[in-house]
Amino acid sequence: MPKSTVPILFNADSIVDMVREPLLVLSADLRVQKASRSFYKTFHVTPEETEDRLIYELGSQQWDIPWLRKLLEEVLPKDSAFDDFEVEHVFPVIGRKFMLLSARRICRQDNQTEFILLAIEDTTEHCQAKEARREIESRYTSLVKNIKDHSIFMMDLEGNITTWNTEAERIIGYTEAEILGRNFSVIFTPEDLQRDLPGRELRLAREDGRAEDERWHVRKDGTRFWALGIVTPMYDAGGNLTGFSKILRDMTERKCAELKLEEQAEALKKADRSKNEFLATVAHELRNPLAPIRNALQVMRLAGADVQVAEQSRAVIERQVQQMVRLVDDLLDLSRMNGGRMELRRKRIELAGVISAALEASRPLIQACGHELTVTLSPEPVHLDADPTRLAQVFLNLLNNAAKYTPQGGHIWLTVERQDSEAVVCVRDTGVGIAAEMLPRIFELFTQVEGSLERSHGGLGIGLALVRRLVEMHGGTVEARSEGLGRGSEFRVRLPVLEQPPQQQPVATGDNEKVAATPKRRILVVDDNRDSAISLGMMLSLMGNEIRTAHDGSEGLAAAGAFRPDVLLLDIGLPKLNGYDVCRRIRQQPWGKGMVIVALTGWGQDEDIRRSNEAGFNHHMVKPVDPAALEKLLAGLPSSFG
Ligand code: ADP
Repeated sequence: MPKSTVPILFNADSIVDMVREPLLVLSADLRVQKASRSFYKTFHVTPEETEDRLIYELGSQQWDIPWLRKLLEEVLPKDSAFDDFEVEHVFPVIGRKFMLLSARRICRQDNQTEFILLAIEDTTEHCQAKEARREIESRYTSLVKNIKDHSIFMMDLEGNITTWNTEAERIIGYTEAEILGRNFSVIFTPEDLQRDLPGRELRLAREDGRAEDERWHVRKDGTRFWALGIVTPMYDAGGNLTGFSKILRDMTERKCAELKLEEQAEALKKADRSKNEFLATVAHELRNPLAPIRNALQVMRLAGADVQVAEQSRAVIERQVQQMVRLVDDLLDLSRMNGGRMELRRKRIELAGVISAALEASRPLIQACGHELTVTLSPEPVHLDADPTRLAQVFLNLLNNAAKYTPQGGHIWLTVERQDSEAVVCVRDTGVGIAAEMLPRIFELFTQVEGSLERSHGGLGIGLALVRRLVEMHGGTVEARSEGLGRGSEFRVRLPVLEQPPQQQPVATGDNEKVAATPKRRILVVDDNRDSAISLGMMLSLMGNEIRTAHDGSEGLAAAGAFRPDVLLLDIGLPKLNGYDVCRRIRQQPWGKGMVIVALTGWGQDEDIRRSNEAGFNHHMVKPVDPAALEKLLAGLPSSFG
């Protein structure tokens, strides 16, 4: 269509040129009449390629866009205008463009000519920026949502939660739906709420740009988790504070490990303290008997031939030595118990025998304290599968404690009864009693009640721990009862009864069995502790035996060859040749095969006994040797020796 047919446009040429946006003037048949300069610039086309052309043909059909066709051919004829229609199109030359199209259908009144103004706003930059922002946001959201071990949420100015990531749900327990809109103070502990920590946190974040700390928080189910938290303020483009974000890093595992380490360190410190206290007690308890022993010896020296004084002094020494032996035995048992080396030599026994052995051993202390003792045994014999020595030790400990912790002139009851499949042994006293708070701890190692009168009787706080251990090893239980301080105590031991009928075997002999008159023996004592050797020799000589002593391994071996003793009491830790070697060499001699060789040693562990057996010893006795036990051992040897 020639330009002259639309003269109005000539007048408007300069206006169209001036328009900053790309603008097209189209004829009714959609041919370009005029285009603005910015149209050519934006779409990289020349006026020659443009004017008088059908819009769809422009720039090798770049403008043949389905949406544009629809707008121009369907919308515009009907509505005569459209505005801001968004179009995204990839142009072959200039690439992808976002545009807002607006059009007006204009009709000249004079000649009814119709033309169309098509304004094209290039929004590419804006749209691409928006798209990029959307992508960043979506990446950020997915990062925040899926980040591990970090709860991340946002809040408004008051601390009401506005976003909540997946980890927050996992760690804290609230779902997004449950928590949105609630104040973040719900995850604080009541203690922190009282100190208004949530409010302080927001204030600090607002003033300093960050609030950070580590503390316990509360999950939905009320349990607690330890977290490092950072709150930061959020601002809009205008610099106005819009809210806060909080990142919580779950550090519960690390915290628990730290707490455990602290606990272990504390327990170690406590154990170390207990050990030191225990060593002090041991030293104290072992030293106590020494003063009376030394005094008694001095008295014996001064008193000369006064038989009565000598007898009194002897009794003092005997009692004190007995006390020391008990302490040392306890220590050995403690070491066995701690090393898990406590073993029972179980067999079928009658409970009454064990009880009478314990009563026998405890009687001197009970009598010395002036206590009355009432014993009630069950009418029927009660059989147990037990180690009689160890079980007697249990009842002896309980009886001695009853005597120790009861003021002079008290009353002690020992009762044995059968209850169904259990034997129940009860030791009760009218003594100092046990405070309720001590009862649960009374069986723990080294537990001693401060300030009670036991200090005058000595003890290491091992006895009851040993009692419980031994009773449990026998499949039983022990419990302590007391109505309180000053109201006496009661210890109840329950043991499973052996139901099987007795087998045809000799009845176990009790410790209090009478010993037959001991025949005379030739005995060699070998010990590098001269005093031990001499005193033991003296004792055996007084019993009517013929004695020689030697003080090292070689001397012992030579003396054995020359003296040919019936019985050799041989220390193990000897200079020159140790006891094992002496024993082995003697066994190699024709005269040494039948000799009774007894190991005398400070070590009584099962392992020590096994080693001495292997070396050829017949018996194993732990020092200090109990004279009665030695006498019994000698009495038990075949009389053909004599
Ligand atoms: P020890 O007697 O060597 O101190 P035990 O383990 O035998 O150690 O006893 C632990 C503690 O239990 C004692 O120190 C004492 O305070 C308390 N106790 C034990 N038996 C009695 C009792 N019959 N009456 C009151 N207190 C007792």
